[in-house]
Amino acid sequence: MITISNLKKAYGSFTVLHGIDLDIAQGEVVCVIGPSGSGKSTLIRCINHLEAFDADSEITVDGIAVKPGRALAKVRAEVGMVFQSFNLFPHMTVLRNVMLAPMRVRHTKTSDAEKYARALLQRVGISEQADKYPGQLSGGQQQRVAIARALAMEPKVLLFDEPTSALDPEMVGEVLDVMKKLAGTGVTMVIVTHEMGFARQVADRVIFMDDGNIIEAGPPAQIFDQPVEARTKSFLHAVL
Ligand code: ATP
Ligand code: MG
Repeated sequence: MITISNLKKAYGSFTVLHGIDLDIAQGEVVCVIGPSGSGKSTLIRCINHLEAFDADSEITVDGIAVKPGRALAKVRAEVGMVFQSFNLFPHMTVLRNVMLAPMRVRHTKTSDAEKYARALLQRVGISEQADKYPGQLSGGQQQRVAIARALAMEPKVLLFDEPTSALDPEMVGEVLDVMKKLAGTGVTMVIVTHEMGFARQVADRVIFMDDGNIIEAGPPAQIFDQPVEARTKSFLHAVL
């Protein structure tokens, strides 16, 4: 579903990604872990070209090359993204936030968009908040709206960048529960997270990054219980 080959990214003379190779299968759930500044956000932001990358690097999503141009809109329609900071439209109700993209991008009829948005809000457990504004919701509720909004375009790929890092601890669980339910529904998920328990439980594959490289990757049991690389060991020792 996603192929990444020789992904290089630099800010001026500072290289952030040193030639990443990674293939992600349809329906696979991949958790990306690693220290601050290791390039995790940059890696997933390249997948929908929120960050430009080197010309000799290659990314495809569902067979479409990710590069500037007309095909990029197609990629972005297939890739939903959920950020640490929710990024909801504050002047629109929860329902409108979820309806917006299908209406704008796909020209879905208002009544159909509303029906689907309500179903999605139900799915993430906040149907009763539909007519409120984002500022009236808790962080956990806002993040669930953001997930519903990402799902509204029926994406094949969902990218999450530390979706629970900005939440009060008591709200982390409700968001992770929604993500757990999504895993295994056929949608491909790439999740940057510091929630090691979640990664262990939900990931098909865990990727450990450091310094702009993938240091080690494998099933959760392998990475968490039998890491091979010294850097993986010391990172896990510090966070677990
Ligand atoms: P964190 O866990 O703190 O979110 P990360 O692994 O997501 O870290 P990135 O945000 O991908 O790391 O950043 C990787 C490196 O790139 C860091 O050294 C960061 O300072 C640098 N960087 C990121 N964005 C920019 C930018 N716009 N301009 C210059 N350098 C940047
Ligand atoms: Mg980051």
